[in-house]
Amino acid sequence: MFFERNFTIEKYRQGILKREFSLTQAIEAFFDYLKEKDKDLGAFLEIFESAGKNQARVLDKKLSQLSEKERANLSPLFGVPLAIKDNILIAGFKTTAASKILANYIASYDATVIKKLKKEEVIFLGKTNLDEFAMGASTEYSAFKKTRNPYDLSKVPGGSSGGSAVAVAANMALGALGSDTGGSIRQPASFCGVVGLKPSYGAVSRYGLIALASSLDQIGPFAKTVADVALIFKAIAGFDDFDSTSVKVDWSRVDEYEPSAAKKLKIGVPKEYFVEGMEEEVKEAVMKVVEKFKADGFEIKEISLPHTQYAVSCYYIILPAEASANLARYDGLRYSPVAELKTENLSLWDYYLKQRSVGIGDEPRRRILLGNFVLSSGYYDAYYAKAQKVRRLILNDFENVFQKGKDGVDVILAPVSPTKAFEIGAKADDPLAMYLADIFTIPANLAGLCALSLPAENPQNFSKENMPVNFQLIGRRFEEKNILNLGRYFEEELRD
Ligand code: GLN
Repeated sequence: MFFERNFTIEKYRQGILKREFSLTQAIEAFFDYLKEKDKDLGAFLEIFESAGKNQARVLDKKLSQLSEKERANLSPLFGVPLAIKDNILIAGFKTTAASKILANYIASYDATVIKKLKKEEVIFLGKTNLDEFAMGASTEYSAFKKTRNPYDLSKVPGGSSGGSAVAVAANMALGALGSDTGGSIRQPASFCGVVGLKPSYGAVSRYGLIALASSLDQIGPFAKTVADVALIFKAIAGFDDFDSTSVKVDWSRVDEYEPSAAKKLKIGVPKEYFVEGMEEEVKEAVMKVVEKFKADGFEIKEISLPHTQYAVSCYYIILPAEASANLARYDGLRYSPVAELKTENLSLWDYYLKQRSVGIGDEPRRRILLGNFVLSSGYYDAYYAKAQKVRRLILNDFENVFQKGKDGVDVILAPVSPTKAFEIGAKADDPLAMYLADIFTIPANLAGLCALSLPAENPQNFSKENMPVNFQLIGRRFEEKNILNLGRYFEEELRD
């Protein structure tokens, strides 16, 4: 029961409230299952078996002391097993960002999202694999292991939050956290056929997230359904004193489902998101979704976002610039030295060189070099300053189509990635091909918008022969409610 594709957080809660199973039973079953299952998949870098089981016992005891009424008032995430991407800090546990330079770093504090989830009394199953420092689109750039797509072990799960997507897709966890800087939640959600949300910039605190590009990063949830994603989002969203870019928004009703409000949303389909070279099956799947909305009476119109073609180049200037600054702190002295390196008798400079050349992998190195280049004097205006202007044009495109009133739309419907999951090894040595995987996801990050990635077909139909494919719903900044509501409407009323 726990390990079926349609077993959701909502069902788990019912089971707990009706006392169909204890948390101890459930959590023990989850650990037994995931230990076996993950041998093939490689989604987890570390599991928290004893801490998780202990917590289950404590929560069971708490449950037994509550009246039925008090139990009904418990958090919807009470005792829910979640997996956390290993670039989010949990105090007392290793946080590596899948990099050797942090291989021995133990977090000394909780990320704000973790503090919030602890308040809801979730149970953390462990930390999931990612591309090193969240740079990548296949999870192949992890310094520690490869993660495989649960529907076809020869294929990638997408990335960089590949481990989190797989944990949910393979039923090892009921939900997970990832981070999305240029698509790292939405694209793996698509390759694995689960739901993933990239929140608006400023909706969720970034405190305790290992920074990649601070003007783009957001933490967000994965789950099996839109409703479950909304529950996790509600728990982690909100203003935080420790992140000056977080914003005060009233999220109290963001998880409410209102079909009649969903039906009033105007949907735009951007013509620039159906490009030459994208897989025919992806295009067809997304167009089928559009047809379903149309047939149900939704107002749909074709829109244009003319600067889309510049998004990837703009991103690969801004991201390396910010990343090169963020990664400068990993000098092999702070956080943790790379073990086994002989460093006595080295000058400080040589120590840094040695630590960084062994500790930092090829992709982060490439981006540190690129970032230093575009920020260096003489090149700054030609690259970095220009990219900032292009970023503004991309935001203007969205603001034009999102105007309130007769001509505007409320939500944009688009593909997530030009392809379905590709073979392991197919792009690992070709950074440009890997970068192009993000062509449809990057614009929402550059513009700070929210975007929901959800399966175009019923996930029960996904298989090796029929690999998953998602579409995305992009909304105005802080209008998560609209995309969640519309996504849920699709999932519950329109999808086969
Ligand atoms: N694939 C993109 C990159 O490599 C996205 C990364 C992310 O969102 N963390 O930068």
